Parts: sequence; C-alpha cells; structure tokens
Amino acid sequence: LHRELANKERLNIISELAAVIAHEVKNPLTVVRGFLQLALGSLDEKARPAMQIALTELDRANYIISDYLNFAKPRPESIQVFDVADVVRHIAMVMGAFGTLRGVEIRTDCSEGLLVNADAGQLQQALMNLVKNGIEAIAEPSGTVTIQAFLQGETVLLSVRDTGVGMSAEQLRRMGTPFYTTKTSGTGLGTMVTRKIIEGMKGTLTFHSAPGLGTEAVVKIPAVLVKEVV
Ligand code: ADP
Ligand code: MG
Repeated sequence: LHRELANKERLNIISELAAVIAHEVKNPLTVVRGFLQLALGSLDEKARPAMQIALTELDRANYIISDYLNFAKPRPESIQVFDVADVVRHIAMVMGAFGTLRGVEIRTDCSEGLLVNADAGQLQQALMNLVKNGIEAIAEPSGTVTIQAFLQGETVLLSVRDTGVGMSAEQLRRMGTPFYTTKTSGTGLGTMVTRKIIEGMKGTLTFHSAPGLGTEAVVKIPAVLVKEVV
C-alpha cells in the first residue's frame, strides 16, 4: 500500500510539473512561430524549405501541448456542478476560428440545464480534442462538425459528428492507442486523453464511423438530476 501511495504521489507531481511546463513553453513557442513566419517572407527561395520545416516542427510541439494540456491538470482538479451547455458554447466559440480556416462550419444543437458533477476544464479538453479531430477529418473544401447535447434519462449525451473522411474498422480499432496517428503533424494522444477524461467521469466514449461517411463520437456522462441539487 505504501508503495502504491508513493507511486500515486509521484504521478501527481509529474502531471502537475508537465502542466506547468506546458503552460510556460507555449508562450515562447507562439512568439518564435510569429517571428519565423515573418522571416519566411524575406528569405530567398533556397532558404525557404528549411524554414518551412522549422514551422511545421513548431506546430507539432504546439499540438502535443494542446492535446495534453488540461489532462495534465494545470490546476488542482475542481469538481463542481456545471451545465454542459456552457462548455459546448465555449468550445464552439474557441474552435470556430480553427474551423473557419479550414472551411468547416461548427453547428450546435444543445439543451440547457445539462448538469453534471465533474471538472469543467477537463470536459472542455475532451470536447476540444473531439471537435479538433472532426475538423481535421474534413478533406473537402467545406464540411460541418455538429455538436449535440441533451438529457437521455439520467445521462447527459454529447455527440460530435463530422462530415469527414471517416475510418475503416482497422483505424477505429487503433484509434486511442498512444501515438497512433495518420496525420503528418498529429500526436496520437488526443483520443487517449479524451477517453481517460471521460472514463474518469464515470462516463463512456464510443465512436461510429465508416470510410466516406464521416464519424460520430458519443460521450455519455451521469447527469445530476435537479432534485439532487436542491
Ligand atoms: P491525432 O489527432 O493527433 O492524430 P488522435 O488520438 O486525436 O490523434 O486521433 C488518432 C487518429 O484517429 C487520427 O490520426 C485519425 O486517423 C483518427 N481519427 C480520430 N478522429 C477522427 C475523425 N473524427 N475522423 C476520422 N479519423 C479520425
Ligand atoms: Mg486529435
């Protein structure tokens, strides 16, 4: 038991450290990226490919941090009752620009008063990873990612559906195993993190997908029924 506690404590320290480092490293990366982008314009033809590689690698570093950031617990876990609708609105707004950049419209269809007792920051991270994958799955010049949320019995059901490329059975099987990615600057961490978060909330995460037909991620988390709050 003693060793188990020691291990747990060690993991906590590591994840807290990871979070602090991630936060601190993100800012300089953003500054460096900005300057490199600026410099790219004034470089001669020969020097450009190397700079392009530098930019791509910086993006990779950024992706690793953003796929992992909240999961690593930037602040102490804060469990409280909140409305999932607020998280959906927030993520739709935050990811809106990223979507627009890729010609993807984010639609929401969400009931109000979807109370859960959990860490809102972590749910935000999970939903962000799902929406990000949805946007990245769209290869056509345009497409949509639809976020739906509603109460189903004693469960809050959250669905993220995209009109993207979809996945084969083999891809579906491998998704969520650490570092599995089909993207040039992917991390293969997002789905693993999402699953850990949702299961930590005593919830479930399932995917429905087929090549060419898009993908739907379904999250179910236990709802707090109003009579419990009052
Ligand atoms: P990453 O996004 O960095 O590749 P993820 O764990 O988020 O890592 O996803 C792993 C892989 O699963 C992706 O590279 C992609 O092949 C597949 N995938 C995940 N979500 C989707 C989706 N919505 N549509 C199609 N493929 C997906
Ligand atoms: Mg991802």
